[in-house]
Amino acid sequence: MAYKIALSPEDRSTNTYHPQALYRGRSTNEQEQMRRCADLLEKELVRCGFEVKNMQYGNMYDRVKDGNNWGADLYIALHTNGFDGTVAGTRVHCYPSDKSRKIGKLIQARIAPLSPGGSDKLVESATLYELKATKMAAVLPEFGFHDNLAEAQWLIDNMGTIAAETAQAVCDYFGVAYGAETQKTPAVTFEVRQVVDGQVVQTWTLA
Ligand SMILES: [Zn+2]
Repeated sequence: MAYKIALSPEDRSTNTYHPQALYRGRSTNEQEQMRRCADLLEKELVRCGFEVKNMQYGNMYDRVKDGNNWGADLYIALHTNGFDGTVAGTRVHCYPSDKSRKIGKLIQARIAPLSPGGSDKLVESATLYELKATKMAAVLPEFGFHDNLAEAQWLIDNMGTIAAETAQAVCDYFGVAYGAETQKTPAVTFEVRQVVDGQVVQTWTLA
């Protein structure tokens, strides 16, 4: 049976990114970028054999309830951070349990070296609702600071990498092989028949 991953991307579009950080030539916000992240991550995880609930609806109370009722094995709340524009770096929040710490460290180790900021840390929290009210391992990555111009642009431009690295951390956590996307060449075969006097006397299959 496939492991079940619940994704809860930020739902507030009022969390605006730095106004000069552009996505498709315009400014953007945390809801839009984290929904992008959730969609990319869902594709990665499904390809690796996971079942995914991509919860782009309701508030955190609805999502925690649905994740718990669904019986998710892992809950990931997807976020980017905001402070005063001067701080940058990756901060992964996790519930203070062995399994939540394990996935927190795996995500932190992959994303922090890539993000421009150096203010990286793993933050244990027993009070964040999506970490404390979830029954399964739960983690809340703040991939970077979206009010810092350099980091906001990095987030926008590297969301595919962020999703791929997060998917690899999830694979490591469950001991599942990460299958990178490969160009599959479809197998083409030809059948050759030797016909003598209307009778097939021999057939070959050529690859
Ligand atoms: Zn957020």
